[in-house]
Amino acid sequence: MNVITRYLKSLMLAELVAGMGVTIRYMFKPKYTMRYPMEHIPKSNRFRGLHALRRYENGEERCIACKLCEAVCPALAITIDSAPRESDGQRRTTRYEIDLFKCIYCGFCEESCPVDSIVETSIHEYHFENRGENVVDKQKLLAIGDRFEQQIAADRAQDAPYR
Ligand code: SF4
Ligand code: SF4
Repeated sequence: MNVITRYLKSLMLAELVAGMGVTIRYMFKPKYTMRYPMEHIPKSNRFRGLHALRRYENGEERCIACKLCEAVCPALAITIDSAPRESDGQRRTTRYEIDLFKCIYCGFCEESCPVDSIVETSIHEYHFENRGENVVDKQKLLAIGDRFEQQIAADRAQDAPYR
């Protein structure tokens, strides 16, 4: 019986007709497809995208070269060298690099940072054009932080009650 039903269904193109029915039904419904990049879906304030190093309002970099982020990084993506600063002897990083090819965007670095210095921004649209650009150095990370500080601060303020 099953064989006969299947044979008749395939003869009548029943699956095709049912499929076309679904297509026609959805032609007149609201569309859910986003026209990226003109349209974007809303992102969580906890989104873990491109990294940034932040400064205090007076321009002083937050990072105190404690190396916690380097120690906690499961992908060994962070490399830090540090030395006392000439002007006041405070310890500061002389090298801070993140290899974005190694990074798994787990967020452990920002969780471990005692001074809210290294953060993951909501930026996910970035690319590399040349070999080696996947290793982002301190100056680039600080520049990203400077450029998107408003957004970073707003995201973190929104999330503060849950931290
Ligand atoms: S997000 Fe995770 S993997 Fe990436 S640098 Fe931070 S700790 Fe390492
Ligand atoms: S970014 Fe934060 S955790 Fe990493 S070395 Fe600087 S102060 Fe320490």
